[in-house]
Amino acid sequence: MINYHKIVGGPLRTNTYVVHDNEFGIIIDPGVHPDIIARVIESLGIVKVGLVIATHGHFDHVFYANRVSRLYNSKLLMHELDFELLSKSRFLAEDLYGDVFELPELTEAISGETTLKFTKELEIKILHTPGHTRGSLCLVVGDLLLTGDTLFKGTVGRTDLPGSSSRDMRNSLIKLVKLPGDYLVLPGHGDITTLDRERRSNPYLKRLLT
Ligand SMILES: [Zn+2]
Repeated sequence: MINYHKIVGGPLRTNTYVVHDNEFGIIIDPGVHPDIIARVIESLGIVKVGLVIATHGHFDHVFYANRVSRLYNSKLLMHELDFELLSKSRFLAEDLYGDVFELPELTEAISGETTLKFTKELEIKILHTPGHTRGSLCLVVGDLLLTGDTLFKGTVGRTDLPGSSSRDMRNSLIKLVKLPGDYLVLPGHGDITTLDRERRSNPYLKRLLT
């Protein structure tokens, strides 16, 4: 059975997620200290961490990516369009975290949409959802939808940052709204919600549906 664990941490209160089946896990957006992530991995009984994924290249989602991927000898997957963001806010990030940022080494780029299968149950569909950043990703795992900084409970990600695009965001939100059925939405910050609830009550999504 696919399950998830949410960890909140870092100076911008990022949601780091561990998505896992009985033995195999994936870490999404490691903005939380590796010691905390490691404790969770151990408590969940995860034997193998197969991959670290960054939903986008903002520092609060990748700050500990290198340390976590080294710890588990797993690759960091992110969209190639966000590589340039990695070193951009380095000094601000180090100031806020009070720690050293390591540029990711074992990085695997993706450029389009793809599905990765890890175990019989654990399969991740990766959607390219630009808008907040050019390389923003959303992930579908079973009935979970990890939305990074694209979709939050009651709102959507900022599109006033360098590399943001409100037109791309609109198209990406349409892509999410049109996903068949309902999903548990695990956003990059704030509370967990469902896609149906957001279709009904999120003003940015409601606008697209009328
Ligand atoms: Zn962001």
